[in-house]
Amino acid sequence: MVDTQLIPRGIKDQRVLNAMRKVPRHLFMPEPIRPSAYADMALPIGEGQTISQPYMVAVMTELLDLKGQERVLEIGTGSGYQAAVLAELAEEVYTIERIPELAAQSARRLAELGYGTVHVITGDGTKGYREKAPFDRILITAAAPEIPAVVADQLEEGGIIVAPVGGRLSQILVRSKKVRGLLAQEYQVPCVFVPLIGEYGWKG
Ligand code: SAM
Repeated sequence: MVDTQLIPRGIKDQRVLNAMRKVPRHLFMPEPIRPSAYADMALPIGEGQTISQPYMVAVMTELLDLKGQERVLEIGTGSGYQAAVLAELAEEVYTIERIPELAAQSARRLAELGYGTVHVITGDGTKGYREKAPFDRILITAAAPEIPAVVADQLEEGGIIVAPVGGRLSQILVRSKKVRGLLAQEYQVPCVFVPLIGEYGWKG
């Protein structure tokens, strides 16, 4: 996966490549799907949700520019795979999932695999996670109509937020840095994610 999908498409950060070599992606999906675990696509994980394509996980992780000391908030735990990749690269990871069954499953998986620095929270991530804010990095892994202001408020000065932003059917992956309290946006690749549903996201 790393040699055939990620490096040829330009993923360069060796720490990201090593993390994605290490995390056992197949263990983050239901048994019947596992033969396709390392294929170049998003895959169903139940409850109508998906584990993102490996390349998209790599792009988002690389954009976060993690050095190892960061506290990271992920919104959209899904399978827990992205959280495990983040845990390989940062100090602490808080990850929120709105579907209780997925949150419970991911928490169990991550604990079994020894990811003790990942904290899984069940709830509406469109409100962020004020209890542990501010965060050095925030990653939204579901499609947001816009970055909720309450989430942007929870980003540390100089911190980076990465999110798919746009319509319900297609989005642009955006990377923004907080500079003097405001988000300075850079636009990245087009992408397609399941919707971010909640008080400051899409309504159902
Ligand atoms: N990062 C995940 C992984 O590694 O498997 C993939 C995330 S999946 C593309 C998007 C997830 O966002 C889904 O599990 C969905 O239930 C969740 N989600 C959608 N709206 C949410 C919200 N308001 N708060 C938290 N999670 C949300």
